[in-house]
This record gives sequence, structure tokens and C-alpha cells, in this order.
Amino acid sequence: MDTREFRRHAHEFVDWMADYLESVERYPVRAQVKPGGIAGQLPASPPERGEPMEQIFADFKSIVLPGITHWQHPSFFAYFPANSSPPSLLAEMLTATLGAQCMLWQTSPAATEMETRMLDWLRQMIGLPEGFTGVIQDSASSAILCAILTARERATAGRANEDGVSGRSTVYCSDQTHSATEKDAKIAGIGKNNVRKIPVDERFAMRADALDAALAEDTQAGATPICVVASLGTTGVGAMDPLGAIGEVCRRRGVWLHVDAAWAGSALILPEHRHLLDGIEHVDSFVFNPHKWLFTNFDCSAHYVRDPDALIRTFEILPAFLKTREKGHVIDYRDWSVQLGRRFRALKLWFVIRSYGVARLREMVAAHIDMARELEGWIRAAPDFELMAPRALSLVNLRYHPEGVDEPAALDALNERLLEAVNDTGRTYLTQNRVRGRYAIRVAIGQTYTERRHVEAAWRIIRDTARGL
Ligand code: PLP
Repeated sequence: MDTREFRRHAHEFVDWMADYLESVERYPVRAQVKPGGIAGQLPASPPERGEPMEQIFADFKSIVLPGITHWQHPSFFAYFPANSSPPSLLAEMLTATLGAQCMLWQTSPAATEMETRMLDWLRQMIGLPEGFTGVIQDSASSAILCAILTARERATAGRANEDGVSGRSTVYCSDQTHSATEKDAKIAGIGKNNVRKIPVDERFAMRADALDAALAEDTQAGATPICVVASLGTTGVGAMDPLGAIGEVCRRRGVWLHVDAAWAGSALILPEHRHLLDGIEHVDSFVFNPHKWLFTNFDCSAHYVRDPDALIRTFEILPAFLKTREKGHVIDYRDWSVQLGRRFRALKLWFVIRSYGVARLREMVAAHIDMARELEGWIRAAPDFELMAPRALSLVNLRYHPEGVDEPAALDALNERLLEAVNDTGRTYLTQNRVRGRYAIRVAIGQTYTERRHVEAAWRIIRDTARGL
């Protein structure tokens, strides 16, 4: 394809992209295809000769689009959002065009220096104190892995990296923590049986006294506690672990404290939620995902550390082909994560933050929280529905509980049927949860284009579908 042809198709694609954003509501939110429905339309072998872009694009529309779940649909309330925005899309186009691989300062100084600056902008925006230094990871899962590995190296004075893992090390989180911590402990050679799930209080927050007791017990049994992963905004119910009380325990016992604020971190741009950071002085590392709730395309996970040298010591490896004359005088982000190669991910942050400005970003996040507050009110007012957990920011857990159905298993089955029926309408998309063992329906508000009317419509669909079951 020459640049003349590229230009023509690119203009056509940009028109399609704008049309898509304008009309995304006409698609079913969750893909309605059956397993194998897309694979069956893709030839088993690659084409020997090139095909015209017109044909490829036509197939994109007829084969691919029906198999897409529309995360940018304003009625997407499943999981947590992976929202984006027009400025972020524009930056991604430029990033793809440059195609720079930004592993070293020298392989694109602008990418490195922009990343340093953007992570500091974000730090200020969410109220993290000075002294935290940021790096963009691909995901919160990777950031938690980095935290566990760095903590492991600190606890073993670098021996695990040199000689491999030996002895029993332990990691701590609550029984509400995202499964990424357990997965990362497996990868780090800690073992999932050495992840202690600390019980929670009535608001689903980790109990610092129970953490302290578990640490004492394990230390006495000869284990080496290395890391506590506290959450601000757990995935199920959005619970907020108390950083002050947990941090005090970690400090006293010399254990690394990582904070997983993957979703809720974006809400910290609102000063009224900054109290969640009380105790941040005890925290060693912190992650939140602008790619969830800050209008920035996936992937963009903001990982902060207090001691970048500890991170670098954990990951640094210097083969001859990666040496540059600037080494030691500049940041080479390849030493800050598992991966070597890196995309220019800071550009989309620059575009998003500059294009909206912090004040507008605050308004957008606050609007999502207001919508959830209103939904909470509607649920409270409905005699046959109930909240399954306190609303957390823009996350609501609910269940249908009609009069006369009180047997727990029957209620679980009824709500499971309700969720499937709602999602089969294609008009909204919600996901399930278990709250104290019982089935709950989760509504996570945070899509860029969601307005009050979309939440109202979703609530109507839930109610009408439930009453028609
Ligand atoms: N932590 C929390 C609280 C999450 O909700 C999620 C995903 O939703 C993760 C971690 C994992 O995020 P990622 O997909 O960025 O690895």
C-alpha cells in the first residue's frame, strides 16, 4: 500500500470512527454471537496474495463487528469500564503512526521524558504526595507483580534474583482483593497457598488486627512475610482498605505495602475522596489505571514507587546490545518493568489531560458517581429490590428479591437468570458478583458517554425483566 492509498483509506476510516462513536448505541452492548461464530468465517489458511483494503474493511464490518462487545457503548456497566475518549484516540493514531519502541531514553527521548512528566501530572491530580515516582505499566496485574518482586528482593537482600526462591515467603491481601494478587504470587514463585486472605469488617475492608495476627503467626512459623496488597476499591463491592491502620502494621513489621487502586484511583482527582489516602506515608508502591476510568485508551496503568532504585535493582539486566552512552544520566524505562519493549503510552495521557483539563475530568468522574447515587436511591425505593453492599463511588451491587422468595439458593438462581436475560436484550451489559456468598448483580458506571438517561434505562430494563421472569 503506498501513502496515496493509505491517505485515502485513513480518511475513510476516520469518518467511520466518528460515525461509530456517534451511533455506538445502535449496537447490542454485549456481542450476541455464539462461540465459534467468528472463527467459522475466517479462512483456515492465510491468503497467498494481497487483498484490496475495501474487501478487508468490508469484512471488518460484516465479520468482526458482530463479535465485538461495545465497551464504548454508554450502556456498558459490566466489569469496570475501559473507557476512552476522542483525544485519546487521536493520540493513539499518532502513536501507531510513529511506531516507536520506547524501551530506552535513546530509542525515543520524547516518550521517556513525556512519561516522567505525565506521571507526575497524574500524581498531583490524585493527591499522591511528592516522593512517589511513576512509570506506566500495561496493567495493574503487572504493577502488582512488580511490587511483589521488588518486595521479594528487598526481603531477601537480592538473593531470590541471584539464586532463585527458597524458603517460605508470604503475601497478604483481603478476601475481597482482585485475583491478580494471587496470580502474581504464583508467577513470583511465592505460591498461591502462601497468599493469606485476611478477613474483612462489615464494610468489606481488610481488618488490620487480623493482618497483624496473621503476620505474627507466619513469622513465628518461620515464614518471611514480604508484601501486603491493600485495595482502594475492590472489584466486587469497591471496598476501601484502611491504609493508616494497615500501614502502621506493615511499618512495624517491616513488610512492603502496595496499594491496588486500579479502578478507584481515578476518583482521587476529586478532593472529597482524598481521605482515602490517609496513611499514604506508609505506602511503598501504588497503582491505578487511567485506562479504566480516566478516558484514556487501554493500556495505561500508572504505577508509583517510593524507591525507584529498588524497582530498578529488581529488573535491571544489561546485555551489550542495550548499552547507550546516556546510561546512568537518563531514565531507561526498560529497567522498570517485566517487558523490555514499550509503546509510547504517555502521549494519550498528554492529549487527554490537556484537551479536557483537570477541572472537566473532575466533572466527568463526579457525574458518574452522582448517577450511581441516584441508582442507589431507586433501588432503595423499590420494594422488590435490595442493595447487596453499600454503594462505593460509582459501583452498585443489587439483587431482585420479590416477596415470597426467601430461600438463598432460589434467590441466587433467580438473579442469575435475571442477569442473563438482561444481557441477552443487548440493551445494557452488567456482570455478576458474590457478596457474602450470595449472587449479586453489579452495575459499574464510568463509560465516557454514559448519561443519566442510560442509567435510568438500564434500571428500567432490570426491573421490567425481573418482573417478567
Ligand atoms: N485490581 C482491581 C481492583 C481490578 O478491578 C482489576 C481489574 O478490573 C485489576 C486489579 C486488574 O487490572 P488489569 O486488567 O489492569 O491487570
